[in-house]
Amino acid sequence: MEQKQTINFGPGPAKLPQSVLLQAQKELVNYNGIGISVLEMSHRSSDFSKILSSTESLLRELLNIPDNYKVMFLQGGGSGQFSAVPLNLIGLKEDNCADYIVTGTWSERAAKEAAKYGKVNIVHPKLDKYTSKCQLDPEPVVLLTFYYGCNETVHGGGYNITRKQNGVVLVSDMSSNFLSRPVDVSKFGLIFAGAQKNVGCAGVTVVIVREDLLGHALNECPIVLDYKVQATNNSLYNTPPCFSIYIMGLVLEWIKNNGGTAAMEKLNKHKSSMIYDIINVSNGFYACPVDVACRSRMNVPFRVGKKEGDEALEKKFLDGALKRGMISLKGHRSVGGIRASLYNAVTLEDAQALATYMKEFLKEHQ
Ligand code: PLP
Repeated sequence: MEQKQTINFGPGPAKLPQSVLLQAQKELVNYNGIGISVLEMSHRSSDFSKILSSTESLLRELLNIPDNYKVMFLQGGGSGQFSAVPLNLIGLKEDNCADYIVTGTWSERAAKEAAKYGKVNIVHPKLDKYTSKCQLDPEPVVLLTFYYGCNETVHGGGYNITRKQNGVVLVSDMSSNFLSRPVDVSKFGLIFAGAQKNVGCAGVTVVIVREDLLGHALNECPIVLDYKVQATNNSLYNTPPCFSIYIMGLVLEWIKNNGGTAAMEKLNKHKSSMIYDIINVSNGFYACPVDVACRSRMNVPFRVGKKEGDEALEKKFLDGALKRGMISLKGHRSVGGIRASLYNAVTLEDAQALATYMKEFLKEHQ
């Protein structure tokens, strides 16, 4: 029986490139002819050591990571980093104080977690909702630790805040837009990203940190979260998420073979504008709650029928999508509506299929 094609618009864990899955399948039982699977391999073996170093080299190449930055592959997810970042960096300032930019659910969680270890200062006017542009005073804030969620997966805000470092340690959670575009790593003190959206499967979180920021952990920092310990041990202080690192290596190779971050950016602009364009010309039938100035290219949230969403019509939209093989379009449970996640592995054809369906649904129900 012919299998119906499934198009996965999930927010993460998310779609992986088909070629990566096929390669992993081919190598699952017998990796590289050595007779065992990566799943069974010692993390101290020379074979795994090659996987780890080639994954790091690819990442360094794709992001042009300067030599004075360490790259780590850790466990604990983005949420683990909500704790690790303050535990390692909040002590940089004598009064254990950090400035946070809270632009959505995830940075809100990060700020709440940091408040356990020091004083958190929110450095922008209070936002009524996480769908409007976050205005920062361009100069006067004196910042030491400065944190923001670069792409807010739940509400669909995309923010691009970079500063001259001038004593500012800019920390960014890039979990949902990592490698979706080029980034100047030298503008950041630390970048972290869970792999399960743009660069692999769940289980591994990449941390890229400037070397001079190592060695400032608070006494109570658990040893597995201590960046200095993990960096000195090349992510091998304890058992790393070996298979997830291997999958990430395959995805990085795929990104490289498909033109690198610049090509990903072009593709992602194209895919997201296909969807936003329909929203914009639908006369309010589709409504994106996010200000045009800060719309994400990765997660496109929208309501159907009217601005605040017609739930019956939204259900119909999701049912119709499912009949066409399009899955995981339901908005986050905290905001409702629809959310199309368009990470790197989502193809132009996938986005086109959604755009075509949206046009047809509009015609039928407007
Ligand atoms: N940061 C962002 C931007 C996210 O989208 C998520 C999860 O979706 C997280 C952090 C939390 O990641 P994890 O579930 O790996 O802890």
